[in-house]
Amino acid sequence: MRRLGYGRLAMPEGHTIHRAARLHGKRFAGEVVAARSPQGRFSEGAARLDGQKLDRVDAHGKHLFYQWSDGDILHVHLGLFGRFRVFAEDPPPPTDGTRLAWTAETGTLYLAGATIVDLIGPEDREAIASRLGPDPLRRENNQAAEFARRLARRTISIGAALLDQKAVAGIGNVYRAELLFLTGIDPATPAKSVASKDVDRLWTETVRQLRLGEKSGRIITVEPSEVGASSRKDLLRDERLYVYKRDGLPCRRCGTEIEHTEMGGRTIWWCPSCQG
Ligand SMILES: [Zn+2]
Repeated sequence: MRRLGYGRLAMPEGHTIHRAARLHGKRFAGEVVAARSPQGRFSEGAARLDGQKLDRVDAHGKHLFYQWSDGDILHVHLGLFGRFRVFAEDPPPPTDGTRLAWTAETGTLYLAGATIVDLIGPEDREAIASRLGPDPLRRENNQAAEFARRLARRTISIGAALLDQKAVAGIGNVYRAELLFLTGIDPATPAKSVASKDVDRLWTETVRQLRLGEKSGRIITVEPSEVGASSRKDLLRDERLYVYKRDGLPCRRCGTEIEHTEMGGRTIWWCPSCQG
């Protein structure tokens, strides 16, 4: 059995989803699959997919779309507990909770615990996309301007706005705290009051960080030299982030104690000195 290292985070953010789209596309696109639902809750859908060829996979925010040869689109949202497991060869038996399992000549995929596993058509997909904000990992035009436009309409804090998938698609709780630290923005600032040059920097940094995360499968925001390491790979687990879950610890840059509070329904961490 060879388990492929696709990484695993407790709460997938956009980079994990885009990475899954890229790796699943690479492995399974062009392949005909034998599909089933070991758990039984997706039996009808699996029966429809059985014998179809996967054309391509793409992601928008935290949503995955698998396009099949008969025109079906498999829509997946992992939510908090969803998990893929992919094996190149000799897969172990699926767990009882595996909603969807497929096997192709190039490997086996198991999906369990996801919030959404559904077969949809192109109109449904359009409707889902229309409810999402710009996605920093999709290479589309005018995304920075669209991000600025959406923030300018929001009176909620920038900390809360970054979790709103209608404002920007794909940022989760780890990235929102880290991105605001990296750009020196106080999370409590009303979204519409963030200076436009800061909004520009925030977008640029978001694209940069999520691309790094997509590539490595990990969220590492710390500049290695700041903690005495020579490369991102050398960072220890507790050296990878600036503020997330570091309440009470000294800021890596100024030594001020990192604070935390509730914002947008989740806890956020920040440095009161660097982000003022
Ligand atoms: Zn600081």
